[in-house]
Amino acid sequence: MADTVFQKIIDREIDADIVYEDDHCLAFHDLNPQAPLHVLVIPKQPIPRLADATNNDGDLLGYLMLTARRVAADAGYADAFRLVVNNGEHAGQSVFHLHLHVLAGRAFGWPPG
Ligand code: AMP
Repeated sequence: MADTVFQKIIDREIDADIVYEDDHCLAFHDLNPQAPLHVLVIPKQPIPRLADATNNDGDLLGYLMLTARRVAADAGYADAFRLVVNNGEHAGQSVFHLHLHVLAGRAFGWPPG
């Protein structure tokens, strides 16, 4: 299967505005931001969808959430941010490399659209 755009960002084949990186994950600004802060947190391990994660990935999934919290806090939004995971095409997923959207800096409606 061809590499996704996020794999190409991990491999530095295309540029991204990276805000955090370690051995397990990468966080960078979304190209089409939906809020004043809109960062994507991705694992370096290429899991296509949350539905494809296994029980063995629990530590990694938790780590992604903690990283999302850190990204929000580092941007000054420790107390008000939203995390979104779109799983599957019909839920709005367009890039098939698991990612958490970290959104902050405006009011968010509920239920989401
Ligand atoms: P989703 O629709 O949940 O799969 O989210 C994919 C997100 O990736 C969208 O919000 C896009 O704007 C974003 N995106 C796509 N390509 C890039 C890129 N090269 N750099 C940063 N964000 C991207």
